[in-house]
Amino acid sequence: MLGKDETNIRLAIRGVDVPLMNALRRIALAEVPSMAIDEVVMIENSSIVQDEIVSHRLGLTPLKTDLDSYNLPEECECKSEFGCSLCRVTLTMDAEANEGTRTVYSGELVSENPSIIPVSDKVPIIKLAKGQKLKLEAYARLGKGKNHAKWQPVAVCAYKYFPKIEVPTEKCEECAKCVDICPKKVYAMKENKVEVRDLLACNLCMDCVEACPQKPPAIKVEWEKDAFIMNIESTGVLPPERIIQEATKTLDKQLKEFQEQIKVEAK
Ligand SMILES: [Zn+2]
Repeated sequence: MLGKDETNIRLAIRGVDVPLMNALRRIALAEVPSMAIDEVVMIENSSIVQDEIVSHRLGLTPLKTDLDSYNLPEECECKSEFGCSLCRVTLTMDAEANEGTRTVYSGELVSENPSIIPVSDKVPIIKLAKGQKLKLEAYARLGKGKNHAKWQPVAVCAYKYFPKIEVPTEKCEECAKCVDICPKKVYAMKENKVEVRDLLACNLCMDCVEACPQKPPAIKVEWEKDAFIMNIESTGVLPPERIIQEATKTLDKQLKEFQEQIKVEAK
């Protein structure tokens, strides 16, 4: 692990290849479930915004997700279209503008489960003019990013090759052109020598190699064939480390299912 905070995680992964990294990336985007509002029952909407637009905005509001307490609706034992307490969370909103125009924020959604609430209570949902009302009941369910982007738990999920940089002191003439041109500020001058300050920031753009006046260039930028830096930024619905854990679990499950299918076919 190279770094982590509440929504971001940066990992160095070694001994893997591009297809595996890409499988993990795609699973994190499309297969790891998260909670989102899926159905809205409008009780009163006297604003100028249509019910559909309000519902769409509510659907796109990221909700904190509890993967251990809830089932995907299609896997739930209730087998009911409406859902049960294990596959559905009810949120309500009852907003009114009493004293002039005001904005209604996601924080006004009241959840039946205090752990399934909007990630941020500052998402603007609608603007109400004096006397207008918005009253509704919303149902949140677990879902997958492949069905709708609102269920995608990650904002960023990307990987790059692990960089390898060499600055041979005997060839370099310390012109510092590479230090100035690097957009990622990978290099620094230290005691009149070019030094790699932040190797992991390198995105292999090769500007430094092209800027080097020496022929052939003194700087050598390469990448490791089987090592990657992966960056995952969660939308806040799940901790980023949980997303990558779920992605590896899902990949494992999919491979086992594939193996079973091969066995069935071979019989
Ligand atoms: Zn259920």
